[in-house]
Amino acid sequence: MTVTGTCLCGDVKITIPSMPAGSILCHCTHCQIAHGSAFSSNIVVSSDQVIVEGLTKTYIDTGTVSGQGNPRTFCQKCGTIVFSCPAPFKGNHIIKAGIFKDKAPCPVKEIMTCNRLSYIKPIVGAEQVEVM
Ligand SMILES: [Zn+2]
Ligand SMILES: [Zn+2]
Repeated sequence: MTVTGTCLCGDVKITIPSMPAGSILCHCTHCQIAHGSAFSSNIVVSSDQVIVEGLTKTYIDTGTVSGQGNPRTFCQKCGTIVFSCPAPFKGNHIIKAGIFKDKAPCPVKEIMTCNRLSYIKPIVGAEQVEVM
């Protein structure tokens, strides 16, 4: 059964075939700024399986660790970031887990833990990746 997530105002809808088994937390400084949060919570879905509806806008985030621009896509109206397509995950949409009502499955991996804020503890059982 497909799963659909929406932005804050509901204009943008992201539909995927099913919710992946696990999520990935990114602790990079750009996710901290873009999401106004300690980290971003994401699911990885093959780009050809992602249906995007509604008016979006994309900002190419430069100065990334990979050195390649990371397109971050958000709702034109309310600004909710719905996904990004960073080069290291080529061929996939990194969809923001918070847009789904059922929220995301438990994290299986944490990346860019070199930037983890001191009050955030590693999630037990999740693979820890210091850079990327
Ligand atoms: Zn919106
Ligand atoms: Zn990040």
